[in-house]
This record gives sequence, structure tokens and C-alpha cells, in this order.
Amino acid sequence: MTGRFIFILCWAALVALAPALGGAGARAQDLSALARLDPVRSLVSAARGGEIVLDLGLSQPVPFRAYLLDDPPRLVVDFREVDFAGLRPEALTGADRLADLRWGRFRPGWSRLVAELPGPMRIAEAAQDTGAAPRVRVRLLPVSAADFAARGGNAPQGAGGAATSALWDLPQPAVVEEPRRRQTGDRPLFVVLDPGHGGIDPGAEHGALSEAVLVLTFARELKEALTRAGMRVLMTREEDVFVPLETRMTVARAAGADLLLSIHADALAEGVATGATVYLLDEAASDMAAQQLAERHDRADLLAGVDLAGHDDAVAGVLMDLARAETHPRAVRLSQVLAGAIKAEGLKMHKHPVQGANFSVLKAPDIPSILLELGFMSSEADRARLIDPAWRARMAKAIVTAVQSWGQADAAEARLLRQ
Ligand SMILES: [Zn+2]
Repeated sequence: MTGRFIFILCWAALVALAPALGGAGARAQDLSALARLDPVRSLVSAARGGEIVLDLGLSQPVPFRAYLLDDPPRLVVDFREVDFAGLRPEALTGADRLADLRWGRFRPGWSRLVAELPGPMRIAEAAQDTGAAPRVRVRLLPVSAADFAARGGNAPQGAGGAATSALWDLPQPAVVEEPRRRQTGDRPLFVVLDPGHGGIDPGAEHGALSEAVLVLTFARELKEALTRAGMRVLMTREEDVFVPLETRMTVARAAGADLLLSIHADALAEGVATGATVYLLDEAASDMAAQQLAERHDRADLLAGVDLAGHDDAVAGVLMDLARAETHPRAVRLSQVLAGAIKAEGLKMHKHPVQGANFSVLKAPDIPSILLELGFMSSEADRARLIDPAWRARMAKAIVTAVQSWGQADAAEARLLRQ
């Protein structure tokens, strides 16, 4: 994946910051608070020759770094955590000069801004003004596609270390281990809950409601319900931070989970779809709607710089295929039991309650993994349900029932197979 890395710019800003940090006591105290983005002093402007300038006014200087990624060409700026104060990227003056602009917490202590560029560009300047009105400025100039690609190949030796550190969350080469022994009911069932999206990636949005926050709320409630029922639960994120899809799956595998349940709430631009839907991995899912859904879910990773395209090749192996052959029917049963329990609880389901889609998060070869869309954020009726604690409690109850009953049948089958 290092080929995707095109260009990195300096920690010069950090060096420039050093004198500011050595300032008076009062100043040092100010610096301990989060830097805040000042929308009045922030904008995207354009100049002759296709130049694009991104100015970010900050309440105080912060260490930052800027670099470009390919496919599509993107600018990434990582900062020590910045409080974006609820300002939405599209509200930034001139934001429409960029195809897509996002920001948010990337991981604890760090924030990330990602902008999709109108074409191949180079960073002509990335600097921080650490004076009375601190500001990060990134100036971009268009280049040819060949020039853009060549810069990747010519990344200076010295930038190598920095480049590596900038890619802290890119997937490591997959280790093909022996598939984990499946549960036989001799210990509590171990469930990994995966609240979708988070941080830089809010997921579907409607007004002030974001899918990332909604599914996190639900996952916390569900964790409590599952724990009360005697199960072990781990969440892929406990707060509003970005977690790459592959990391979510890796967390479940590293922990030795018995199943992974990813939780989302979809939105459609058109149509009047409502109700919950259970999704299973189907790498051949060619249905247009399923494909678009997979793109909506995986696109955030692309924007955050984690492009998993082709990565599966490295993971693939005979062991994995064997494991999948055993895991898939178990996931199918889980999806059926879950859809049945949701219906039995009298909760609204989509007219096609169980569907296949090619979601990266479901690709663990040895852990039955399913994705539950609680409902559609684009539907007023579904939104009302999603924000209703009583409805969420019923949904959590249905899931607990389903997971318990699936776990028992699954353990019985494992014991049988072992004899
Ligand atoms: Zn989602």
C-alpha cells in the first residue's frame, strides 16, 4: 500500500511552534486547551492557474502535517486534536471548490481533515502562522497525472520515516494464522459490537442527527443488555473516533470473538425504504442497490486515506477459504435467527429482511459476521424509532434473544462435529 503514498510535508510547523510553547505561563495554560477552528478566519479560495488555498484559522498553533494520497487525489491534514466546534465542513466558505471535505476526530488526541481534490495536485506550501492569529495554510497547484504519480516514486529518503508515521492506521500485512476454534458453550459467548462510522466519518446524516452518534448510543445500550444476559462484549469504538473498517475486523479477530455484529442506520437519497435489514457478506453481490450500499459504507475509509482495494489478495489463502466455508453457513443462521427475533418482537423490518452485500467489515474469515441496519435515517418514521429509547430497548432485547439462541445451537453443532 506504500505505493499509494504520494508526498509528505514536514514537521517544520512543529519546529516553528517550539518558541511559542516556551512562552509565558498564561500562554502555556491556554495551550493546554484544545485548539478551536475559527470559521471566520477559515476558507477555501482559488487563484489563477487552478491554485487552491486552504486557510484554517485556529485559536492556537498545533503540530500538524499535510500530505497527498492517490486514487482519487486527496489532501490529508493531521492535527493535534482540534475542536471543530460543531462547524460542518460544507459550511466553510468556498468548501465547494473541493469535491468532498471532511474533518473530525481521527483517534484520541488527533484530528484529521480530508479533502478530495478536483484533480492531481502538488502541495506548494504547507505552513503555520504561529503569531497573534494562528493559521494553517495549505496551497495546492495542479500537476499532470504523470507528475503526481512520479512524486510518489520520488519520495525523498528522509521523508520515509515521517511517511510511515503518517500511515499509522493503514492495515499491516495480514498474518494468516490458524482459524480460531469455534465456541462450544463452555464459556460465555464473546460478542464484538461494531458501531459504524465515527470521528471524521459521521455516516448518514439528517439535520443534527448523525448515524455515527446514533449507532454508538444504541451499541452502548446493547452492550449493557448483552452483558446482563451473561455474554462478554467488546466494542470496536467506545467514543466518537474514526476506526478503519479493516481495524474493526482485526479487533474482533485479535480478541478471539465468537461473532461480530456491525450496527448501522442507512440513508437513501430516494425511495421510501423503512425498517431494519440484516446483511451478510456476499462478495458477488452485484445487485445495484447492494453495491451502492457497500460504496456508502466503504467510501469513508477511502476518504480517510485507508483504501482497502486489492488488500484482500494478501489476506487470501487456503486456510482462509477453508475457514470461510465453515463460517458462512453459521453467519447465515445468525442472520435468519436475528431477523426472526426482530419480527417476533413486533419491530418493523425491511421488505427484504436478509440481504447480501460486499462489506469490508464482514470479511473476517473465521468469525461469523453480520451487519444490522437498524433502519433508514432518510425515513421520518425510522428516525422517530431510532431516537426513541423504548424502541431501542425492544430492538436490544430482540438481538439478545437472537444471539443467545444462535449461540446455543451453534455450540451444539460444534460439539457434534467434534465427536
Ligand atoms: Zn452506515
